[in-house]
Amino acid sequence: MIRNRAAGKPLHKPTIAVPHGHTVHPQTSINTSKFTASRQNLRIIPMGGVEEVGENMTVFEYGDDLIIIDMGFAFPDESMPGIDYIIPDTKWLEENKRRIRGVIITHGHLDHTGGIPYILPKLGDPPIYTMPLTAGFIKKRLEEFNMVHRAKINALHIDDVLTLGAFQFKFFRVNHSFPDGVGLAIKTPVGTVVYATDWKFDYTPVDGKPAEFDKIARIGGDGVLLLMSDSTNAAVPGYAISERELSETIDRVFQAAEGRIIFATFATNISRIQQVFNSAAKFNRKVVVIGRSMVQNIEIALSLGYLKIQPKIVIKTEQMKKFPDKNIVILVTGSQGEEAAALARIARSEHKTIKIKKGDTAVVSSTPIPGNEASVASVLSNLTREGAKVLYYKNLDIHTSGHAKQEDLKLMMSLIKPKYFMPIHGEHYMLVAHAELAKQLGIPEENIFIMDNGQAMEINSAQQGKLAEAKIPGGYVFIDGLGVGDVGEVVIRDRQVMAKDGMFVIILTVDRKTGKLISQPEILSRGFIYMKGSDELIREVKHEVRKLFENKGRGEANYAQIRQTVRDQIGEYLYQKTERRPMILPVVMEV
Ligand SMILES: [Zn+2]
Repeated sequence: MIRNRAAGKPLHKPTIAVPHGHTVHPQTSINTSKFTASRQNLRIIPMGGVEEVGENMTVFEYGDDLIIIDMGFAFPDESMPGIDYIIPDTKWLEENKRRIRGVIITHGHLDHTGGIPYILPKLGDPPIYTMPLTAGFIKKRLEEFNMVHRAKINALHIDDVLTLGAFQFKFFRVNHSFPDGVGLAIKTPVGTVVYATDWKFDYTPVDGKPAEFDKIARIGGDGVLLLMSDSTNAAVPGYAISERELSETIDRVFQAAEGRIIFATFATNISRIQQVFNSAAKFNRKVVVIGRSMVQNIEIALSLGYLKIQPKIVIKTEQMKKFPDKNIVILVTGSQGEEAAALARIARSEHKTIKIKKGDTAVVSSTPIPGNEASVASVLSNLTREGAKVLYYKNLDIHTSGHAKQEDLKLMMSLIKPKYFMPIHGEHYMLVAHAELAKQLGIPEENIFIMDNGQAMEINSAQQGKLAEAKIPGGYVFIDGLGVGDVGEVVIRDRQVMAKDGMFVIILTVDRKTGKLISQPEILSRGFIYMKGSDELIREVKHEVRKLFENKGRGEANYAQIRQTVRDQIGEYLYQKTERRPMILPVVMEV
């Protein structure tokens, strides 16, 4: 996502659009040959996630060993039409793939796992290590990409100790809107690094398993060189709200709703889904589950014991009419306003089985991720227009963030007592807010590292940390999931251009031998200008086209070149005249 960033940073990073599963790298990428570290230094490189909320991915390097933590994607903002996801630029890692010892995934949210199907094959399919529910979600997703047979996914136990090259990993449970989230204590040859992302402290979580304070305190007691910690809510005072408080809020909604409840949340938000099932049981409502990812994730979580539901509480859509509206809750995907998800389709009354009716209560249980605000607003409006009562984060505290607030963040720092501190997971301003907290707790400013994507922090054997001078490309790679291949993508893009600015066809009759234009060019326009009222513009365009041919030397016609020149020059001319960029289609007829 291209957003506000530190002063002096270019607004637009090198980016490239790629079709499904393919990657092309920006030509402008930085020369990475200078990017070599002393073999005795630990290097930590956030590849993504420190300039945005999303596409989290961090690399650790020591000697010949590389390990990767998380492999997420980000959602695009409105300036990227047709783009589904953004992943970090992994060119440097591809060049060094032989050194990759493994990938550790902290939890199953897509901003930490969504990049796996796109990135993993380019890195030679290194093994993945994670907790069981996350492993289940990753497997399911890789099945959809027909990749599960080649992936090496290892489900660990929280008390396992994992050694990969020069690194040794221990895990501690944290609370989050995902039941299986872990923090990492990484023992490296220069000291211990604690990696804690997407966490909060919750003494009364839905699954009854609070964060492992005892382990965290012990790790801190043994001495920690660097703490890397979640900055999402670093600007928000107070403590994170417990899931128990949220359960009470959801109970109140279930009690008050007179008709059906349509409850939208992330399909990966297993804690929230558990709460919906709990409240449904309490208030005698049957649950209809809509959306493929929602159905699949519930099945996985049930089979692994991460979700506990009453028998027979789930019913099929067709069975809904057997029950009064007040005994129904419909669980759907699409809480971020995603156009293709169930909630948006229901809101546009395009869903084949669920139609909104008066008396329905729609609950949208998440705060829009920056960039998604407009889509969420449009879904809320559509739901209201169809007659639903809408509850969302602004008129109901239905979304307790899964991320630590200031007081929790300070508690973590106090337990870990690191020498160095690196705020991660957030926009630049969130990292700065987190750095302020660290300063308040006595960590000297020169020991705090606020990073950009692709920058490296280096720590030597004397435990001295500094920012490395060279950096690796920190750009974005765009994933267009609509295109099933190159052709698909071209088609989609053409449609977008035509939908926006229309089409402009120029028919040229050219002498095969001389390459000269032998009659007046013909012009057709659709969705761009109305031909009858635009005589003058059409005349001028014809004139411009003729000029292009006059400037061209004699010789055999090169049709590819003719088409390209006409497209570029007339495109530019039309833009100057109309400030629009229709699709220009030069048709060359030779005689
Ligand atoms: Zn998360």
